Amino acid sequence: MKFKPANKIQDLQYFGEFGGVNPSISDSSTYTFLSAKTMFDTFEGNADGCYLYSRHSTPSNLYLGEALAAMEGTETANVTASGMGAITPVLLQLCDAGDHIVSSRTIYGGTYAFLKNFTPKLSIQTSFVDITKLAAVEASITDKTKVIYCETVSNPLLEVADIQGLATLAKKYNLKLVVDNTFSPLSVSPIKLGADVVIHSLTKFINGSSDTVGGVVCGTQEFIDELRNVNDGACMLLGSTMDSLRAASVLKNLRTLHIRMKQHSANGAYLAKKFEDDGIKTVYPGLASHPSHELFKKMMNVEYGFGGMLTLDVGSLEKANELMELMQHRNLGYLAVSLGFYKTLFSAPGTSTSSEIPEEEQEEMGLTDGLIRFSIGLDNDIERTYEEMKQCMVEIGIL
Ligand code: PLP
Repeated sequence: MKFKPANKIQDLQYFGEFGGVNPSISDSSTYTFLSAKTMFDTFEGNADGCYLYSRHSTPSNLYLGEALAAMEGTETANVTASGMGAITPVLLQLCDAGDHIVSSRTIYGGTYAFLKNFTPKLSIQTSFVDITKLAAVEASITDKTKVIYCETVSNPLLEVADIQGLATLAKKYNLKLVVDNTFSPLSVSPIKLGADVVIHSLTKFINGSSDTVGGVVCGTQEFIDELRNVNDGACMLLGSTMDSLRAASVLKNLRTLHIRMKQHSANGAYLAKKFEDDGIKTVYPGLASHPSHELFKKMMNVEYGFGGMLTLDVGSLEKANELMELMQHRNLGYLAVSLGFYKTLFSAPGTSTSSEIPEEEQEEMGLTDGLIRFSIGLDNDIERTYEEMKQCMVEIGIL
């Protein structure tokens, strides 16, 4: 049967403590034991179903983790206080001093800064490569390499990683393939394609209401247990734990993700086609002109579409800023970083979310000054949105 990730969420069944249709929220930082022996066993990791302390795990976090694991098709998952709070412990858990990472060079600016500026302090070095060129990835692997790291659809350039090709390389050299799937939840299922660990910033599409930051690591039971280990687990010891109240609210939003993703994708595809036809340099994985369009088609779960992220290059930073300010003034969206909201969000990544990347490197990877990254919202009347956006472009001389 065809893999349908949202169906797995649909099939989950949890009741609250008093028969509530939502699970009860565990509003406690610590848990009591009827016997001292059980407390000891729990510390040792040998008391299934018992809770110890909320930095380790909580019932609310486990419910959300299980739902996300079901969506990604992994054995289990650990939710974290932010996307970076998921990415950093995973990499620190997988790498020791002296190890090496091969990473896509087009990744979220915070992840780039962590690998470029922070992990070298721990003697973990990273080679940044063009992830779309498997030969370049393979050529960067050394006997110290432990991890291949990429985003399924990269922030902000929307490059698409060949997860199956990368997984083959990872297996060949005994590496872990870690994939950040933040831009393409439901649309792509990296585990199905051979990835070892999948990460999300829940802050974005999955939560979808721009009211919190959050993250998740989806993987094998063994790896998640390692992350949570009281003696040497990076999630447990670095402390990027999600709060239970938040876990409960993210779980409620997760239930509508499949409906939202279809609408984000339909709106994204509509606008991308229109603006490309108007002669604006448009990047969207759903356009035949995208260099990895066929690859994305091969990897995707068709019903969720090509996602809600697109970029338009309007020629210069001045024009980009002028357009974004005017679009906000006309209530077509917000000039804001982040993504996955009901409103369209837009920003110029070179001076915002990717500003950690030095200018020469931005140029080399094709991150131009006039690039605007759009997270297309859930607009019901996308035809009207298009007409109004186009009018803004005409008024400031882009069209
Ligand atoms: N991964 C991607 C692709 C992102 O876009 C972001 C944030 O913008 C992150 C990770 C980091 O997530 P958070 O801001 O929740 O820490």
